[in-house]
Amino acid sequence: MYGNINRMIVKNNEIRRTCSECGSDYYAASSPMQELCPECAHFLYGYENCPHDFQNGRCVKCHWDGSSSEYIKTIRD
Ligand SMILES: [Zn+2]
Ligand SMILES: [Zn+2]
Repeated sequence: MYGNINRMIVKNNEIRRTCSECGSDYYAASSPMQELCPECAHFLYGYENCPHDFQNGRCVKCHWDGSSSEYIKTIRD
């Protein structure tokens, strides 16, 4: 009767979303926000940022590609 439970477990990196702020794809499981990558969620809302680990131009932890909107750049710098 609990046979469906396993199907609800989704691997961390299976779902990808596109950040509405910087336009980068990111792993949904890596960000607290529905429409923002961890980087933008951090600068816009103060959430903990991903400890980015870039390999081949993308963070292997959150899949962020290093993009930043002009707005994020002004906050960050
Ligand atoms: Zn973003
Ligand atoms: Zn990252």
